[in-house]
Amino acid sequence: MTDLDIERARQSRRRLLKRFGALAAASLLPWRDGLAQPVFADDPFRLGVAAGDPAPDGFVIWTRLTPRPLEPEGGMPRQAVEVDWELARDDRFRDIIASGKAIAHPLLGHSVHVELSGLQPARSYWYRFRAGRERSITGHARTLPAPGSQPARLRFAVAGCQHYEQGLYTAHRHLSREELDFVFCYGDYIYEYRGRDFQVDAASGELLPTARRSQGQELMTLDDYRRRYAEAKMDLDLMQSHARHAWFCSWDDHETVNNWAGEHAPDDTPPELFALRRAAAAQAFYEMMPLRKTSFPRDGRLQLYRRARCGELLDLHVLDTRSWRSNQACGDRWDNYPCDGVRDPKASMLGAAQERWLFDGLAASTTRWQGLAQQIMLADFQRDATRERINLDAWIGYQLPRERLLDHVQQRRLGNVVVLTGDEHQHYALDIKRQGGNSSAAPLMTEFVATSISSGGDGSPVGRGGEALLRRNPHCHFYNQQRGYVVCDVDTKRWQTEFRVLDQVRRPGGVLSTAARFVVEPGRPGVQKG
Ligand code: FE
Ligand code: CA
Repeated sequence: MTDLDIERARQSRRRLLKRFGALAAASLLPWRDGLAQPVFADDPFRLGVAAGDPAPDGFVIWTRLTPRPLEPEGGMPRQAVEVDWELARDDRFRDIIASGKAIAHPLLGHSVHVELSGLQPARSYWYRFRAGRERSITGHARTLPAPGSQPARLRFAVAGCQHYEQGLYTAHRHLSREELDFVFCYGDYIYEYRGRDFQVDAASGELLPTARRSQGQELMTLDDYRRRYAEAKMDLDLMQSHARHAWFCSWDDHETVNNWAGEHAPDDTPPELFALRRAAAAQAFYEMMPLRKTSFPRDGRLQLYRRARCGELLDLHVLDTRSWRSNQACGDRWDNYPCDGVRDPKASMLGAAQERWLFDGLAASTTRWQGLAQQIMLADFQRDATRERINLDAWIGYQLPRERLLDHVQQRRLGNVVVLTGDEHQHYALDIKRQGGNSSAAPLMTEFVATSISSGGDGSPVGRGGEALLRRNPHCHFYNQQRGYVVCDVDTKRWQTEFRVLDQVRRPGGVLSTAARFVVEPGRPGVQKG
């Protein structure tokens, strides 16, 4: 679907609306417990469509009915509404191979998640929805390669950290034009902060007006979170990115609140109160993402860690490093470091169940490559000259869980693990060693950190202090502080990672380029020049 197609679809909808006027949803033909022929006051598909969690035989298709996305409950009545979906083998829907009905329920914000199965592996499909007389834009997704097959190559993107106010989503426009099998979104899809008129620019440290303003107070209630997602999803660049590729969605901290940790709020909110906020954030995330039923929120928590096998080429272990972790050490304050807490034997990053699941999965994998699709930096990175600052929220602040993971990879002689990371709002290519970069030990794994889609504003290629950072960290082969995303192109002989950057994100039309390209060889962890 081109930009023009989206605009045309919008115009034809506007014409329809003029004819039918601003009626609320009304029942003509009830079907089971959903209204079959509602008439909408405005286009109910203003948040677009999305596909997610691709498998060899299917994927999830998603939409949400919100004729007035920023109003409470999206401008929908408190009634269930019937939504039709269609799946085709071509983008013109001449070859429709499946169709059905789903119920958009008010308890889930009128979101729809349809899990498709029985499809052919490694091929493209197109999908769309209809409610009443209204039709959604068309989405596209690819199924994963067949189990046991030897795919010639696999291409996917790593993206996340899309602060709405700090930059436009131009990176998503470019991402939508990439030839990809899927996208991994590590999180920070939204940020919880109140709307602001100005921001501190990451590159210059100066105060600048925000690129655009978010509505509302700091997010706390389900309705707050819903509205913030709706704001983001009305962005046409993001809409197009979802419509073009299936995503694996995980989350980080800002979908709830900065630096939360399992049951612990980042401030002195009592755990029983914080549980209410977590539950609101979890429900909104489920409602807004193309997730499977297995991720459905239960007791205020999401099941977001899961595995995707891409033939015999790649096992992708998607992690949730936020929901099950113990509290950060040293009160999560860099000026409190060092403290004993960073070596707390009871500390956990993944929680016991996810850690066991990951270690078992790593050991049992038979694929050429393994990807750790996660959030926070695993490498030991020296941020300042005196080493008095470490990121207590990242793996290095959880030293024993980090060492258990490194031990496991070393003892099992897993030379094929590539770690994919977000959070930093900077690109990095890193060798993972036990300590820093000065040791002559061979790397145990390779880590590629993807910069942000928009968080941090324009940035600059080197960033403040970038040269010194590279000198202090010889295991870091690349550093860049612009906005963009990462593209991984994987075959049996090498894993290639390209770092895409934009010249600016404050105004439309940001120009994309590839700032650097690196490769990894199977059985030889560590970054090599591409
Ligand atoms: Fe972020
Ligand atoms: Ca944070």
